[in-house]
Amino acid sequence: KTSAVELAQDALRQAGEQSRLNAFVDIRDDLTLQQAKAADARMGAGETGALLGIPTAHKDIFVTQGWTSTAGSKMLAGYQSPFDAEVVSRLNAAGAVSIGKLNCDEFAMGSSNEKSAYGPCLNPWDTLAVPGGSSGGSAVAVAAGVVPFSTGTDTGGSIRQPASLCGITGIKPTYGSCSRYGMIAYASSLDQAGPMAHSARDCALVLNTMVGFDAKDSTSVQRPTPDEDFTASFGKPLRTGNAAKPLAGVRVGLPCEFFGEGLAADVRAPIDAALKQLEAMGAALVNISLPRTELSIPAYYVIAPAEASSNLSRFDGVRYGHRAAEYSDLKSMYENSRSEGFGLEVQRRIMVGAYVLSHGYYDAYYLQAQKIRRLIAQDFQAAFQQCDFIAGPVSPTVAWNLGEKSADPVQMYLADIYTLSTSLAGLPGMSVPVGFGDKNRPVGMQLIGNYFKEGELLALADHYQ
Ligand code: GLN
Repeated sequence: KTSAVELAQDALRQAGEQSRLNAFVDIRDDLTLQQAKAADARMGAGETGALLGIPTAHKDIFVTQGWTSTAGSKMLAGYQSPFDAEVVSRLNAAGAVSIGKLNCDEFAMGSSNEKSAYGPCLNPWDTLAVPGGSSGGSAVAVAAGVVPFSTGTDTGGSIRQPASLCGITGIKPTYGSCSRYGMIAYASSLDQAGPMAHSARDCALVLNTMVGFDAKDSTSVQRPTPDEDFTASFGKPLRTGNAAKPLAGVRVGLPCEFFGEGLAADVRAPIDAALKQLEAMGAALVNISLPRTELSIPAYYVIAPAEASSNLSRFDGVRYGHRAAEYSDLKSMYENSRSEGFGLEVQRRIMVGAYVLSHGYYDAYYLQAQKIRRLIAQDFQAAFQQCDFIAGPVSPTVAWNLGEKSADPVQMYLADIYTLSTSLAGLPGMSVPVGFGDKNRPVGMQLIGNYFKEGELLALADHYQ
């Protein structure tokens, strides 16, 4: 039997050997070994638990005691949090052993992990390729075999898309399921934490610990089934099926907008093959429509920056983070601190957000975007009249090359087309690896369920896996 200390040492060694991938932004062997020893003591006392002694690592958007918490930004370089994020506390309490903090796009704004102040993170399948983002480090640490699971956050696709581009499994649960307490805020009405791992089963085991009501988060939900075991439906027929056809009676909706122009052929082929497998297990594939899919991009890229401009106003060089060395008065201290501390993409979003919220533009942009958001959520409910789950791609292409899209923000935003609507509606969505596209780069299939259906969603993915 391997001890938690041995597992932790092995993970730390792996992290060192794979340091070229730049997945980790802070490693503290002493803290890791302290956690591992505590886990061994608990096991020695006869305690058991799915996560007890298992190595993990946290996206650097979660604040942690001991390790630095930077959100991938120079603004928070060296920042030490006096407390742990709720999700981290829950995993610590379950005995998971943290190997360190994981690289991400600055304040979780990005789709390629190239916008981190600590340098890009590389895709372990092909180091010329981006790992996706913003939870790039979280995907890479798992895909490269450093840790069996990690934490990520998803505001508009940041768990699902890097999971897809790195060939692992990741789930964004229903908005409000996992506490946002201690998650450095990007767009609060969209931000949601979730697990990233090799399989749906591993994700389910981690999610069991991550979810739960938290009075410290004003949008935390009291789950309909508070102590749901997300593995409960695993291995059983999901509806009316039997062992031979476990998916009989399950309707999987294919939105025509997810399979149209813009979806690369090399991504479509493995997804089509995966859908055939679901059919062979008894699922019925039904054509559906999510007519406002295209509008999810402008709606999201108004709402998310609007919320970001408000959330990031707390970084003023006074209470947190970077303070410019030179300034002449309070205003120039704010200006210099913020323009030095924030990267260009973050500054762009703050400016867009402040613009769409300003008097005279609020009705034209922000209010319109909120209306579209409601309609998108309604479209999903109409679709769920016709099907139990929705399937499609996560990303229109396989991982692109480093630098390929980084100069053109709009190109980068367009790549989020299949993930944003789920986020705007607050629905659970996941990425399941289904094969490889061009250049042998991984492809993920997205599975979307209705609110609080993550147990069934994970079971469906497990049947496929
Ligand atoms: N790519 C999207 C953005 O840049 C989503 C990021 C996320 O989910 N955190 O906002």
